[in-house]
Amino acid sequence: MTTPRSDGRPPLLLGAHFSIAGGRHNALYAAAGCGCTALQLFTKNARTWKETPLTRAAVARFDQARKETGITEIAAHTSYLLNIASPDDGNRARSRAALSAELERCGRLGIPYIVHHPGAHLGAGADAGVDNAAREIRRIFAALPGRNCRLLLETTAGQGTGIGRTFEEIAAILSAVDAPDRMGVCLDTCHIFAAGYDLRTREAYERTMDHFDRTIGLAQLFVLHLNDAKNDFHSRVDRHEHIGEGAIGIDAFGFVMQDPRLARCPKIIETPKTRGGTDMDRVNLDRLRALAESGGDRPSA
Ligand SMILES: [Zn+2]
Repeated sequence: MTTPRSDGRPPLLLGAHFSIAGGRHNALYAAAGCGCTALQLFTKNARTWKETPLTRAAVARFDQARKETGITEIAAHTSYLLNIASPDDGNRARSRAALSAELERCGRLGIPYIVHHPGAHLGAGADAGVDNAAREIRRIFAALPGRNCRLLLETTAGQGTGIGRTFEEIAAILSAVDAPDRMGVCLDTCHIFAAGYDLRTREAYERTMDHFDRTIGLAQLFVLHLNDAKNDFHSRVDRHEHIGEGAIGIDAFGFVMQDPRLARCPKIIETPKTRGGTDMDRVNLDRLRALAESGGDRPSA
């Protein structure tokens, strides 16, 4: 349950991505089993275009699980196949229909956030990709008035022709759609580090957060993905590593966990689930809890 901590600080909103095998409600029970106060899930099989019908029974079971676990900080993640930035009309239309379906499903499930990769321009250029993505989102919103699931654009590593590598590209989409009550941003530590935003020292972290605040605005930030990076700084390669064991290192996660500006944002790990026989979600979440509890800047003596 998300009650304040004993020292009066706001509750820690911390979780992981969980599987929906056996039903979407199972993700909530798995999260509660790990002591999570937040979670991320797919609302359908993310590797296929096939739509899975959402039955009233499935919605009721999800509602029941949310009540029993007390977890309300839930983010869905869209399928990886969607590309609303594509220069191809057919590809874009198909992606628009799928993203609409994702938003509708989240609305019915009472999921407050859906995290979405802005897409890839496939050679047409970043500006064209930004324009295409913004136009598709506007069309989706126009066709689905009054839905209350917030669409969050995720910062990306900039692999291939992916857009969303720079804060400026994300800001450009947000401003072109111009629906601040229906949109926001999910910041992924691994992706921004791979994209060239450093977090490894206090100075670098503050510089990066300042840059984010000036271009996008911290008020637009709703969810964080906390992942260390397998590849070096500015690699533009999106590969997640266990917290504190990658190229970003443990200090950066301390800066994030102790940043009062980010206290209201659910923080979700997307790190490898197991190593040998060990449940690594528990290990990674414990590392983050310890950083949160270590209490911010130490006095400089
Ligand atoms: Zn992510």
